[in-house]
Amino acid sequence: MFFWFFASYVLAFQPDNKMIDYTISWQQANSHLFEITIETPSLGQETIDFALPNWRPGRYLIQNYARNVQEFSVSNDKGQLLDWEKIDKSTWRIQTGKASIVKIYYKYYANILDAGSSLLDDKEAYFNGTNLFMYQVNRRLEKCRLKILTPENWLIATALKKESQNVFLANSYDELADSPVIASPSLKTQEFTYANTTYHIVFQGKLDYDINTIADNLRKIVEQQVKLFGGTAPFEHYWFLYHIGNNTTWHGVEHSYSTSITMPANAFALERSRQNFYSISSHELFHAWNVKRIMPSVFLNPDYSREAYTRLLWFFEGVTSYYGELSLRRAEIIDEKVYLAGIEKNISDLQNAPGRLITSVEDASFNDWLQPDDRENTRISFYNKGEVLGLLLDLEIRRRTDNAKSLDDVIRYLYQNYAMENQGVPENGILLAVETVSGTDFKKFFSQFISGCDELLYDQVLAIAGLSLQVETDKSRPEAYLGIKLSPDERAIILNVTPNSPAMIGGLSKGDVLLAINDNQVNLANLSETLMGYAPNAKVTLTVFRARQLRNFEVTLTNLGNTYYQLKSLANKSEVQQRVFTSWLSSLK
Ligand SMILES: [Zn+2]
Repeated sequence: MFFWFFASYVLAFQPDNKMIDYTISWQQANSHLFEITIETPSLGQETIDFALPNWRPGRYLIQNYARNVQEFSVSNDKGQLLDWEKIDKSTWRIQTGKASIVKIYYKYYANILDAGSSLLDDKEAYFNGTNLFMYQVNRRLEKCRLKILTPENWLIATALKKESQNVFLANSYDELADSPVIASPSLKTQEFTYANTTYHIVFQGKLDYDINTIADNLRKIVEQQVKLFGGTAPFEHYWFLYHIGNNTTWHGVEHSYSTSITMPANAFALERSRQNFYSISSHELFHAWNVKRIMPSVFLNPDYSREAYTRLLWFFEGVTSYYGELSLRRAEIIDEKVYLAGIEKNISDLQNAPGRLITSVEDASFNDWLQPDDRENTRISFYNKGEVLGLLLDLEIRRRTDNAKSLDDVIRYLYQNYAMENQGVPENGILLAVETVSGTDFKKFFSQFISGCDELLYDQVLAIAGLSLQVETDKSRPEAYLGIKLSPDERAIILNVTPNSPAMIGGLSKGDVLLAINDNQVNLANLSETLMGYAPNAKVTLTVFRARQLRNFEVTLTNLGNTYYQLKSLANKSEVQQRVFTSWLSSLK
């Protein structure tokens, strides 16, 4: 008994030589400089490498977070400076000099507030570990401790496990990096429990809306998503971390145990923006399953130093958007009409994107790391097309199985067969899951619409739910179509010329400054009104400045200017159409 007590006493007071200790603090908030120290045992190594990620999960773009590191230094446990050198843009190699403990110090400039960035000012400290915490190369899977030194009376919100008031634990660097933190003197909080999980709601900034209403609605969304995955969530705690600000826009980032979402100051003023709030919250929550647990193989233990290529982002983002919206309908936060209007908008956006004809949704996923100069004309959004594909896959599976199976079964299949087994989804894994669940061949569907750029066959699929897609015209917009995008200022610079449009065929170029159509001055403010005055096939003369020279171009307008897409619901649905429609949009029981 005594021995046991003694042994545990000694263990408790021995430094944990596995733990890597991070401390974050600051002196001058208005300098936007965090001060970060990392203490790590050298474990007898002569050199130790520390690195910052070049990208973060959730945004597939090289961002080189090391660019904001200042005043890097390293010392041993006696405070003596150790030698180090950079071996690439993001990696620091430290000579340990046989010291048992190595202590790294640097400042980090943090002055951007969006969900995936970091900000320090006198009102708050917000940070994402991927931005500013270096990882010890080859020891990313070891436990970490984070001490956050804030001014007195500041509150801290994060999904990290709390050890004491301002000390938090992470099972690995990846968990530390995946757990954004808000520290502030004024956080507004609420929580609710569903199926043994506590959901924490935290607002930083001025919230002009009832937090209890927000909690009630989030609970309904949680309920529908948790039910989809079998009734319990794979976490005991989940954090909705929200920022409301004067300089922030809608932006959300998913994490395994939390989401961080920024929004503008008037986010709750209008019904439409309140809907946006639930929409983005629902999308990010769904990611807790789809991409944080069901994930492409390359995202399991990702290499932060280089791109993680996958052709599946259309599924992990687009289908997440599909379920984000469907969860709102199933939770009865939006009605059928609003839900279907969202689908119409997605279809209209896709059908108006010229890139859909030359870029597949797989290529868009794989090449997300690139930012083409001609992006507007070549890219498609894998969020947008992926969401439309989610709808078509769902209804097509229902059509082929007489509504016995749906995309719900596919997502559950992926969860059980990959996430629960700690396996990543291989690049052909979505196709295989759809084929296994439906018991039918989907290769043609995937090669036409996912690997390929064929126009989507909406009516063929929508019919099973008693819906059809109609092309409508908006009489408030000009029927005559030109195909240019103008800058919003007085000097009407052509920002884009759509491929195969009258403007492109007529010779106009991005960068031209538009002066007149048929000698009448034109800018963004009156372009629409001007085009209203022409027949859809009229010949017009456009006068522009190109490289400071006055040029005229003859252009023949066409009639594509004011079309949009509308879903029509059959008044008399057949038995099967009614059955599909109802089960698709009904709450999960
Ligand atoms: Zn997303």
